[in-house]
Amino acid sequence: DPFTQQEDFIGPKESMEIQCRIGADIHMAFDELTSLADTYDYNKEALERTERWAQISLDVHKQHRDDLGYRQSLYGVLQGGRWEDLRRSTAKKMGQMDFDGYGLGGAFLKSSLGDILTWCNEELPEHKPRHLLGLSRPDDILIGVENGAYTFDCVAPSREARHGRIYTKHGYYSLARQACQDCHEPLEVGCDCPTCQQGYTQSQLRQMMKSEDPKVREQYFRLSTIHNLRFTIRMMEEVRQAILDGTFQEYKEQFLKDYYGTKKKG
Ligand SMILES: [Zn+2]
Repeated sequence: DPFTQQEDFIGPKESMEIQCRIGADIHMAFDELTSLADTYDYNKEALERTERWAQISLDVHKQHRDDLGYRQSLYGVLQGGRWEDLRRSTAKKMGQMDFDGYGLGGAFLKSSLGDILTWCNEELPEHKPRHLLGLSRPDDILIGVENGAYTFDCVAPSREARHGRIYTKHGYYSLARQACQDCHEPLEVGCDCPTCQQGYTQSQLRQMMKSEDPKVREQYFRLSTIHNLRFTIRMMEEVRQAILDGTFQEYKEQFLKDYYGTKKKG
């Protein structure tokens, strides 16, 4: 605890109590995230812990989920590394538990993401939403959607905005590069985010980012984060529309070509 300088213990019970007090709409069960370097045996052992914690999380959540006067949801978290038998068995087990939805967790290699999602999806009850934890790159989102993920969360759009990485349809660029100093265009021409709509230019925002005044820098953090988040949300709106129109494959190919096909400007 940064305020009391005391060490705090957080287990599944404490995690649920804290999340219920914060009042989030969707909570994640307490889980153990393994790394790409962990062995099969270790993953199996960690998974048993995660499944035990899942039941405790459910029980404690049930006691507190209505405390704030509205019903808060709880998602079970599916781990199991890159092993098909672990992924399928935990999806089956958790799928029978009374969760409102499921978060797919783990350290993924890009090449195995689609497979892992498919294994989980085939075992989960069809009507429960699936959330992909911690990914936000356009190619990851498109692979996720394609393999059944409904929602995503990630720190990258805001963290990268603070460090000057600006997302556009044609890839990202760095505001720190010299060319932005004399650029009087918005972060992305045609963007409908409030930062671009209010007429802030790359030149102005670059200057704010490099300011000595922490208040000005903070303002830059907010303005650039708004842009990157809007970019990500707009992309999801387009994805949804493409699914409705039956043109998801074409959308995906065109998006990836525009985003990764051009030379990175950063
Ligand atoms: Zn914008």
